[in-house]
Amino acid sequence: MNLKKLTRKNVRELKPYQTARDEFKGLATIFLDANENPFPSAFNRYPDPHQSTLKKEIAAIKGVASKQLILGNGSDEIIDLLLRAFCDPGVDNVIIPQPTYGMYSVSAQINNIEIRQPLLNNNFQLNTESIFESIDSKTKLIFLCSPNNPSGNLLEREAIESILERFEGLVIIDEAYIDFSSEPGWLNALTIRPNLFIIQTLSKAWGLAGLRIGLGFGGEEVIQILSRIKPPYNINSASQKEVMNILDNPNAREKYIELNRVERAKMESRLASLPFVKRIFPSEANFLLIKVDNAMECYRHLIEDKIVVRDRSTLPLCENCLRVTIGTPEENSKIIESLLKFNTKKLP
Ligand SMILES: *Cc1c(COP(=O)(O)O)cnc(C)c1O
Repeated sequence: MNLKKLTRKNVRELKPYQTARDEFKGLATIFLDANENPFPSAFNRYPDPHQSTLKKEIAAIKGVASKQLILGNGSDEIIDLLLRAFCDPGVDNVIIPQPTYGMYSVSAQINNIEIRQPLLNNNFQLNTESIFESIDSKTKLIFLCSPNNPSGNLLEREAIESILERFEGLVIIDEAYIDFSSEPGWLNALTIRPNLFIIQTLSKAWGLAGLRIGLGFGGEEVIQILSRIKPPYNINSASQKEVMNILDNPNAREKYIELNRVERAKMESRLASLPFVKRIFPSEANFLLIKVDNAMECYRHLIEDKIVVRDRSTLPLCENCLRVTIGTPEENSKIIESLLKFNTKKLP
């Protein structure tokens, strides 16, 4: 991978914004350099733009170096940074195998980047041939999601290996759901694969969706480029502080992951007993994609019972499919109860 060729010219030549704290790094007691309100309160000072303490802690937990990590205001910001760093609007293109998480396409459209969308196969696995056919000299990024949203499955390792091997741009693997999976994911391959970039998030297994913390892992030089263009204060002080507290206590997260595993298996077998459920796709995440005989009817019935799931019917390969998040044991019992009622209602 030729990183210089991959990076947009204006980004390569950019002189990044210097914050007050970037310009002065020594010890001082009086800070009159950032036009802050001088009277102490919890939030009168700007946050650390480099998030050094937080990054050190997260990097240690993930077994990578701080220099291989960038934090975003949610993963969504990291997706946007990747597009803005590497793709020239109106010139370059990205590959997004479908169906998958919608934000890659939306972000590419906002940035006016052409999207190429080869289909996954019937098991929601990569069709490497159609991906290779979509690549040309203007292809900068390939977005993969594993476990995939909305299908829930891990993408096969060999297929990803072959793409990493042959593609000269960045291969992005979104591992938002990796904590729920039985397999370890791709972080271990980071040092041997310079064109690998991994996205994770604290929004799912960590239970911190409201704090907006996305994690980007890549080679040191790729991380440097993204750091140059990120908004300086993209992670606010409250989030930086609160995350530190939660990282210190991993027990709640471990408990949730285990509960999800048990409840997911229970939901699979209960759903399988419903005649109108035609298929339950195997999941390594905290949701199940199910094919029913009439998704819209089923969705509306659930809404009448004040239960909301995601109707994914309009996505390719997802005809009559609903995506159901695994909830608390009580919530899961409630949705099954409601679906049993729906079943009876349907009987002539
Ligand atoms: C939920 C989700 C995310 C998380 O996005 P945040 O902006 O970090 O909350 C990222 N990728 C996928 C595939 C998701 O489903």
